[in-house]
Parts: sequence; structure tokens; C-alpha cells
Amino acid sequence: MSNSQDQDKPKLQQVIGHSEDRFLGSDVFASDTRNLPPRNGTGTFHEEARDIDIYHKCDVAVIGGGPAGCAAAWAAAKAGADVTLIERYNCLGGLSTGGLVMWIDRMTDWQGNHVIQGFAREFIGRMPADGVAGPPRDDWGSQDPVKAGYWGNRTTAFHGIVCWAPTLDPERMKLNAQEMLLEAGVRIVFHAWGSRPIVEDGTARGVVFESKAGRQALMAKVVVDTTGDGDMFARAGAKFDTDIEEGDVHHSMNTSWILGGVNMDRWINWKVLYPEQLTELIRRGREQLGYFQTPYVSWRPDIALFLGPRQSGLSALDVDDQTEVEIRSHRLMEGHCRFFRENAPGFENCYNLQSASQLGVRHTRRLVGIGRIERKNWGDGTPVADEVGISPSISPKFPIVSVPYGSLVPRALDGMLVAGRHISCDANSHGFMREIPQCWLTGHAAGAAAALAADSGTTPREVDVANLRKVLRGQGAHLSDMDAVPTAAMGEVVAQ
Ligand SMILES: Cc1cc2nc3c(=O)[nH]c(=O)nc-3n(C[C@H](O)[C@H](O)[C@H](O)COP(=O)(O)OP(=O)(O)OC[C@H]3O[C@@H](n4cnc5c(N)ncnc54)[C@H](O)[C@@H]3O)c2cc1C
Repeated sequence: MSNSQDQDKPKLQQVIGHSEDRFLGSDVFASDTRNLPPRNGTGTFHEEARDIDIYHKCDVAVIGGGPAGCAAAWAAAKAGADVTLIERYNCLGGLSTGGLVMWIDRMTDWQGNHVIQGFAREFIGRMPADGVAGPPRDDWGSQDPVKAGYWGNRTTAFHGIVCWAPTLDPERMKLNAQEMLLEAGVRIVFHAWGSRPIVEDGTARGVVFESKAGRQALMAKVVVDTTGDGDMFARAGAKFDTDIEEGDVHHSMNTSWILGGVNMDRWINWKVLYPEQLTELIRRGREQLGYFQTPYVSWRPDIALFLGPRQSGLSALDVDDQTEVEIRSHRLMEGHCRFFRENAPGFENCYNLQSASQLGVRHTRRLVGIGRIERKNWGDGTPVADEVGISPSISPKFPIVSVPYGSLVPRALDGMLVAGRHISCDANSHGFMREIPQCWLTGHAAGAAAALAADSGTTPREVDVANLRKVLRGQGAHLSDMDAVPTAAMGEVVAQ
């Protein structure tokens, strides 16, 4: 093989991730190869200013209908606000549906207590039974080696403990979210791309969005940015962080896919019984395909989920890099289908069922908020004074992580709240705060807070947290019992 071909080969980087990647460690691939020639654009083009129509006026505008946006819109509407949700694609659920990330990470702590509830619990409770695969409630927290072994191979047991981390049918998730939001009174606008926030005197007053009808304005008392990439807060001039943790998968992207016609029980039995053969299969897969990914279970035993191969060195804020990931991923889907059909027990009759319509982005921007979730504060699980939710921790070394309201509030921008995978946290904490249940949690809190701010005519930073916690509890959220915690023991809101 020539040197230049060698340079074109993707480089394999093995990292241990926090979520989808805990079984075999994870493969992350870096490559400088590009399938498109460099662009030739130079200079600038002057776009004329113009008046545009006001599409609608509301209390709360939620931009992005992923897990965080759905929870935010639902909570705000339940709290009495007039809510409009803008979504660029044709369905709700974001990465959990359009991205085929149907594996919902842990909602229980290491003792099996259900710590992420509220929207999360209501949402899963309303799913049809055959659209949810996961351990029965009685087994949450179980350390029985047989149960942990069984569920460990089905994405719901970690560190030998059975957790509540089910896989859900993405199509039913889309419908479930849609019906919950419509029932709560949310105005949903699909096929609408939030292009910029409307900001006056340091306060967001709405957004401009693009659709087939052109540019229109949506005016709101409070805007909730749930785009996942901080499109709204970044364009409003709010500060954000972009540093990444090299040892984690969260700097990598991929377009996920599912293969149909498989027998996942047969695959799992084989890989458990013959680990050396699995190692050999992975080696050959890497050799033949360059980039390689092993499958995860889905909500059905005849469908396999591929949440990779993960590609690093590309930016989800650069349209050419996004295109590159799509080009590679669609080729890799075909290559994996063929390779698995020819080599992997349980995949003899597999076929390409679906590739994700939403690019799998783990990380772009993170808000700089008035508060911040930081690795140094995971500590002993003591609640922060402005707690709006409780996240499970990444390992049994830490009890739980108390989520502060301040992590949703921009430091120097009013009229806007932030929820989902771009909240204010350090790169380390982002490893779990970006997971779907945590996005439901922060979305729920931001939506309830936005409704309170809109109702009282105050800014989000002035929202009375005690009142917010009351609303959250009323909507089924699980919070620490603050009365039981001496005030002096409470963690400070991290201001920086
Ligand atoms: C490959 C991969 C595997 C993962 N594995 C897991 C896992 O196993 N378990 C787990 O719990 N989590 C997992 N995650 C993480 C999780 O899926 C995401 O972090 C989570 O979905 C983020 O939710 P969100 O609402 O913040 O953003 P998103 O899910 O990205 O939703 C954002 C929504 O906003 C819309 N939007 C964006 N910009 C605009 C705009 N300008 N105008 C209008 N609409 C807009 C999008 O279309 C989308 O609907 C994984 C992520 C990836 C990429």
C-alpha cells in the first residue's frame, strides 16, 4: 500500500464513553479524507434589510422540538402559557427519533430510585407497551448477576446494576410527543427553521424563522433555545464554551441506522459465548470497512441499531463537515449490512431498514450560564440551592448530580432560557448531561420557568426558584427534599 493511501485510512482512537459505548469501550475514527473538493467562495455578499410578516405572538417560543424542546413546550403549556414550538424537520423527538437514538439512557440512580421523572415519566408511561423494551420495575437497582448479565447485553445494566434505560420505538415516540403537546395546547410549527433571535436592549423578544413562505417573525415574551447547538443564544451574542473532552466520544458525529431482519438474541448469545470470535470479527470489520461499529439492541429483537461508526475531527457547525459525515455514513451503512450478513450470526437475512434523517451530533456549543454543572461539584449528591432536577451520576462512585436552575439561564442575555445538550456545564459533565433523560429534565425545568417569567412579566433570571420547584413538583418532577437538608450544607450556585 502506498504512503498516500495509508494517510487516507481512518485512524482508530479507542475511548471509554459514558453512555452508548460502555460495552466494548468505543471506537472513534479520525480521517482527513474529504469526498468533496474545497469550496471556492471568497468575499461577502450584502443582504438587504427588509420588513417581514409577524407570523404569531405568544408567551413562550420554543425553538427545536427534540427531547428538551418537547419537555419545555409541554411544561410551559401545562403551566398556563400560550406556547409555540418551531421545528425544522417534520416530527418531534430530535435525535431520539429523527436521529434514531432510541436508547434512552438511565433514569434511575445506582440504588434503582427513579430520579428523572416529570415529563420523562409521563412520556414513557404513555408509550404503547410494545414500543418499550426494558427491565421490569421490580428489577431496577438489582445486582443479581443473571439479571445484570441479561440486561447488560440489552443496554440497561451498568456496573453490574440493572437500570431504567429502555429502548423505545422511534415512530411511536414521534406520535406520542406530538399528541402530548397538542393536548397541552402547544402550537406546533414543522418545516420551520429558526434563523435568528430578535433581540432588543439585551432581551430576546422572539425569533425570525424560515419556511417555504420565506422569513417570518414569531414574537414571544420568553424564548427557549432547545436547538441542541445553541443556535439562538449564540446568534443573540450570549457566551458559550466549545472545549471537548478528548477521552470521551462526545466530539464525534455519525448518522445512525437500523438493520431489519436480524435475530438479536442469536447475535448476543454468540458474542457472549465466543468473545475471541467477536474480537476477530471486529478486526476483520475494521480491516474491510475502515470504520467499524457493532450493533445495539432496539425496541424489537428483529431490528439492530448502529450508533456509529463515530467520526471525529469534523464540526457540526460546518455544512461541509456535516455533508462529509452523511456521505461516509450512508456508504458505511451499506458496507455494514453486507459485512454483517456475510459474517455475523443472527444477521444472515439482514437488510437496510432506515438511516437517520437527523445527523448524530453529540456536542457543539455549551452555554455560559449564571450557574454551571462542574465535575468538581458532583461530590456527595448534596442538592444545590436552586435545584430543578436530579440526574443519575456516571458511576456508583457518585450518588446523584443536583441540577441547578442557573445552568439554564444565560449570564448576560434576558428573555431567553436554554435546555438540552447545550446547557451550561463543563465538558466532563456534558458526557451525561447531554443524554435524553437529562434533556427531558432540563427542558421540563426551562419550560416551567419560561411560563412563570411570561406570566409575571419578569426575566427568567428573576424567577422565584421556590415557586418554580413547586410548579415542577406539581407536574410530577422528582426533586430533593430541600427541607431535609440544612441550608448550610447546600452547594452554592456556581457563578463565574
Ligand atoms: C449517535 C448518538 C448516540 C447517542 N446515544 C445516546 C444514548 O444511547 N442514550 C441517550 O440518552 N442519549 C444518547 N445520545 C445523546 C442524545 O441523543 C442527545 O444529546 C439528545 O437527543 C439531545 O436532545 P436535545 O433536545 O438537546 O437536542 P436534539 O435531540 O438535537 O434536538 C434538537 C431539535 O431542534 C431542532 N432544531 C435544531 N436547530 C433548529 C433550528 N435552528 N430551528 C428549528 N429547529 C431546530 C432539531 O431538528 C431537533 O429536532 C446520543 C447522541 C448521538 C448523536
